Amino acid sequence: MTDLLAGAKAPPQERRLVTEIPGPRSRELAARRAATVSAGVSTTLPVFIERAGGGVLVDVDGNSLIDLGAGIAVVSVGNAAPKVVAAVQEQVEAFTHTCFMVTPYEGYVAVCEELARLTPGDHEKRSALFNSGSEAVENAVKIARHATGRQAVVVFDHAYHGRTNLTLALTAKNMPYKHRFGPFAPEIYRMPMSYPFRDARGMTGAEAAARALRLIETQIGVTNVAAVLIEPIQGEGGFIVPAEGFLPALADWCRTAGAVFIADEVQTGFCRTGDWFASEHEGVVPDLIALAKGIAGGLPLAAVTGRAELMDAVHSGGLGGTYGGNPVACAAALATIETMRVHDLAAAARTIGDTMLPRLRALQERFPAIGDVRGRGAMIAVELVHPGTLEPDAELAGRVARACHARGVVVLTAGTYGNVLRFLPPLVISRDLLTEALDVIDEAFAAPVPGPAEMPPATPA
Ligand SMILES: *Cc1c(COP(=O)(O)O)cnc(C)c1O
Repeated sequence: MTDLLAGAKAPPQERRLVTEIPGPRSRELAARRAATVSAGVSTTLPVFIERAGGGVLVDVDGNSLIDLGAGIAVVSVGNAAPKVVAAVQEQVEAFTHTCFMVTPYEGYVAVCEELARLTPGDHEKRSALFNSGSEAVENAVKIARHATGRQAVVVFDHAYHGRTNLTLALTAKNMPYKHRFGPFAPEIYRMPMSYPFRDARGMTGAEAAARALRLIETQIGVTNVAAVLIEPIQGEGGFIVPAEGFLPALADWCRTAGAVFIADEVQTGFCRTGDWFASEHEGVVPDLIALAKGIAGGLPLAAVTGRAELMDAVHSGGLGGTYGGNPVACAAALATIETMRVHDLAAAARTIGDTMLPRLRALQERFPAIGDVRGRGAMIAVELVHPGTLEPDAELAGRVARACHARGVVVLTAGTYGNVLRFLPPLVISRDLLTEALDVIDEAFAAPVPGPAEMPPATPA
């Protein structure tokens, strides 16, 4: 957590409100937006941003807000991070695109080399680059099916894997993602997740895995399973951290079953949870890993990295896309990875968790609506319930989120039941800003904005 990373051109690292939220210029832009942008695209907080850096977002009215969203875990390295900006400027002046499938360039190869070094396991690896998390997940499934010659894909309750047609089939939640967008792709099987807060008290990870594996074996059949696909910590589903032992048991089962274990680390990857990848926490080595979000400091890039024999099983031309591994995005990724390595942003994520968890647990003592405080590193959430029950309280989550927004702190909601407040600060946020944001969250619980009105949609993705 160092201000240095914000760069000389970053806005002052402060929370400062000069108008109501949203201010008059944002309201004007919101009116223009309504007349031209599809109503299907939602917004958590309608302040239009003009500048951002370190741990703050500055809007068009001059308000400076503390960012606990990082563009949904994307700008982990900080917004407009100095090294990323420099690398992008240099690349964009050299060339902007050739299409790697037409004429290649070094940046793409260098990113794949880094991914081979950084991802779990010391086996031979290969990578392919794409543009979005959905594309990475969809391609991981293609590769697993192709390499195994099998079709069934196992996913879990509360999973979020994207918005393309295949990834919608993999995603659990109907509203807002799937509603009336079907039909969805076949051969997707959903299993119960390990969800310690809602599972029977004391259920171990091994027991939760056995519950899922019994269903897989009886309802799909061992030899039909191409892949087991899981987020090591579920993101949009509510930052659900499975019980210790759950992920290793699934990965072990895949090894014996001849199925591919795919970790969707689109949200958890790139230092977010205090390791380079969340799988490392329990020593899990995925066969394939899907990556995006934090990989390139805000530029669109995604990847599938995995065992050479799986990745190379695909015939030439079977994987690709016009923009996949765009040179500017690759330059940004190399600068992002370098920054994470040099400044040890995995350690920064752990420090963020060590700062947030005790404060939120103390808050839980005072506010019995906080049923659970969980997460790892800089991926932290509170789940809100009607006190003394497991009954979700999405309305309160919305009211607390809006109270944070009104006070100049950007927080996101999540969860199958919409009752989770999730915190994803940039890993370079200063300790002072983070502490101030926690003070604001405290105030927001003490005085959630009254009433209203419409239920806030869960922050999409
Ligand atoms: C965001 C997300 C995706 C989808 O990524 P997009 O870039 O929005 O397509 C997939 N999986 C997980 C776990 C995510 O958090």
